[in-house]
Amino acid sequence: MQNSFPLQKLQNIKTPFYYYDMELLERTLKQLREHSQQHGFVVHYAIKSNANLRVLEMIRSFGLGVDCVSGFEVQRALDAGFAPSGIVFAGVGKADWEIELGLDNDIACFNVESIPELEIINELAAKKGKHAHVALRINPNVNAKTHHYITTGLKENKFGINQWDLDKVVGVLKKLQHVSFEGIHFHIGSQITDLSSFKDLCVRVNEIQEWFIQQQLYPRVINVGGGLGIDYEDPDQHPIPDFENYFKVFKEGLTLRDDQEVHFELGRSITGQAGSLVTRVLYIKEGVKTKFAIVDGGMTELIRPALYQAYHKIENISSAAPEEKYDVVGPICESSDSFGKAVSLPKTSRGDLIVLRSAGAYGEVMASQYNLRSLPGSVYSDKL
Ligand SMILES: *Cc1c(COP(=O)(O)O)cnc(C)c1O
Repeated sequence: MQNSFPLQKLQNIKTPFYYYDMELLERTLKQLREHSQQHGFVVHYAIKSNANLRVLEMIRSFGLGVDCVSGFEVQRALDAGFAPSGIVFAGVGKADWEIELGLDNDIACFNVESIPELEIINELAAKKGKHAHVALRINPNVNAKTHHYITTGLKENKFGINQWDLDKVVGVLKKLQHVSFEGIHFHIGSQITDLSSFKDLCVRVNEIQEWFIQQQLYPRVINVGGGLGIDYEDPDQHPIPDFENYFKVFKEGLTLRDDQEVHFELGRSITGQAGSLVTRVLYIKEGVKTKFAIVDGGMTELIRPALYQAYHKIENISSAAPEEKYDVVGPICESSDSFGKAVSLPKTSRGDLIVLRSAGAYGEVMASQYNLRSLPGSVYSDKL
């Protein structure tokens, strides 16, 4: 099969590195904009999925806001030129300095995950003579039907406020002078490919917003989070997620009232397919059942296989010889540093480029320096 990677140009670049297909990112953002704007939906990009500055520049040019989960991410969003009025900030453990950073910059909203956090935000805002906009992150107890490590909306998860605590939260909220209630927030998990989970979410959101209105708290913003999955098995067949049907689920499922806005926080579905990790084969080593293809990138550059048993499609873009089976492994001193077992690849030799597809989300941002390695570089299709 002919692949679309510019082999001649890539082969002289020092590996391992991330390769970003900027044309695909742009086409993805165009689709996203078309299908969200059609319903008047607002999208915040989940910056934790990829915080690469060139990627952010492209995303910003499409007018998206940013969803942050740390003060460092808030700072990165500001540095990348996003307006504070488009920044929302979630996370179960916001430190005081992170809250202060948000307050000092007048960000759009804090998505609050507990009563003590709400009280601290109020206290810090009072000291600054400010008013914090807050949304309550509620745990809807909806099963996202995804890997348990990336499920966040079940009652046993640490995220959000559980429904049995809502009475108490509302009591506290009404007494606080330096926070104003913006709306309600949900995020049930990541890599969700079964849209029925989002339908279930809509049912819960409708019930919960009804309850808030009964308490005389009007949720102007309904933030349904992110989580739309991508096709890791066949990235060439499905390079762009089905945003049309995804947004349709919310259009049909949510009961909206006057002046309400629906917000989304998508990460993986925007950046996932646009990035690949490019590695080079160091050695072919005989194993017991199959051969090992030992490449120069590993879990330090792309941890998802080791962390969540995630699958990434693996391709040898240098060879077109008949296929053989290889265990593709990295150089790190951990047995979990393996990208795939018994992978069919064209006959592979030292020096070939091996590409891990669909690595644009939760790839480069999760890179570490374990074994004292250096962080991977990045290369862009439009700057080769
Ligand atoms: C991680 C996260 C997202 C984005 O999830 P994706 O699966 O990448 O779309 C959105 N909102 C919150 C609060 C998150 O923690």
